[in-house]
Amino acid sequence: MDVPQFKDLNPSPRLLLGPGPSPIHPRVLRAMATPLLGHLDPEFLTLLNETQQLLRYVFQTKNELTISISGTGTAGMEAALCNLIEPGDNVLVAVVGYFGERMVSMAQRYGATVDRLDRPWGEIFDPADIEKQLAQKKYKLVAFVQAETSTGALQLNVKDIAAAAHKHGAFVVMDCVTSLGGVPVEVDNWDVDIAYSCSQKCLSCPPGLAPITVSPRARDFLRSRKTPVGNWYLDLMLLEKYWGGDHAYHHTAPITMNYALREGLRIVAEEGLDARFARHRANAEMLWAGLEEIDLPPFVPLKHRLPALTTCALSPRLDDASGRKRLLDEYNIEVAGGFGPLKGKIWRIGLMGFGSRRENITLLLAALRKLLA
Ligand SMILES: *Cc1c(COP(=O)(O)O)cnc(C)c1O
Repeated sequence: MDVPQFKDLNPSPRLLLGPGPSPIHPRVLRAMATPLLGHLDPEFLTLLNETQQLLRYVFQTKNELTISISGTGTAGMEAALCNLIEPGDNVLVAVVGYFGERMVSMAQRYGATVDRLDRPWGEIFDPADIEKQLAQKKYKLVAFVQAETSTGALQLNVKDIAAAAHKHGAFVVMDCVTSLGGVPVEVDNWDVDIAYSCSQKCLSCPPGLAPITVSPRARDFLRSRKTPVGNWYLDLMLLEKYWGGDHAYHHTAPITMNYALREGLRIVAEEGLDARFARHRANAEMLWAGLEEIDLPPFVPLKHRLPALTTCALSPRLDDASGRKRLLDEYNIEVAGGFGPLKGKIWRIGLMGFGSRRENITLLLAALRKLLA
């Protein structure tokens, strides 16, 4: 048999301006070259403890149960849903895009009876509409996406949604995969029960970890669940014993990814949340103005437009697939197309974490002008 032989790993120097992964901070790359510790080494456990403190800072919470799940953002979504849902529970999902759809499908797999509220893609929910549904039927939880990466819309008034849910005895699950570290995520102030995110969007790390935080209210429920969680790997009560208490072995923590996340979070803390949000906002505004000038206007109304991920309407002068191919081949820039009802109609441009920089926007806009010429 021939021995397979391939060239050295030498990928093109892409500028990742899509919906994730986003450009990694060089300090994170360096942290990832650090020699491994064992996953039960006291030094590693200290690093995890520091990561928990940093995560509480970015989630703006005092929740003790604040950890990272080994897996991408989807594993965070899965952990939130599978831990709260027991078979037969009623679950309400507010859907305004692809990731809301994913929550519906996932909740059904854990045996929930799922009702969905829908708004057109690109819009957001009025909390009053969610409350109306909550008043009609007893739900175990209401789930929604704060920053819909498939549309570029940012859900506002989360505090009102959570208040309505709690008034009617439902838990609140919020996807903040594309918001954490890019726009405010105020877990305690808004009273969200479970929020989860990922490492590769506004935290400027590679994909592989999903930060998650659980309120004392939700944690009390998890302790008293009648049925075992339908997913052993993501069972938060088992994971909690590794992260705290006697650090019992559950699964081998991905050491290198945890180095990366700690460094990514340290960078967020050094910049400061307010400065970081202001930077994302200012750079997004520069992009939005530039897109207007070249007649590729932002798709989402300004009022609920998401700074970390901009969708722009395509023009007849710019073909979706061949335009993106040219950006990649000629300029090494990655952006993404639309999903579902928005396929062929929009592009998705991410300015996340380390990627949210003026020079990236200048380059992208110049390249787009060339494509449109
Ligand atoms: C990216 C994303 C996810 C899924 O995360 P993966 O890391 O791709 O598993 C979930 N929700 C939203 C809103 C996202 O943007």
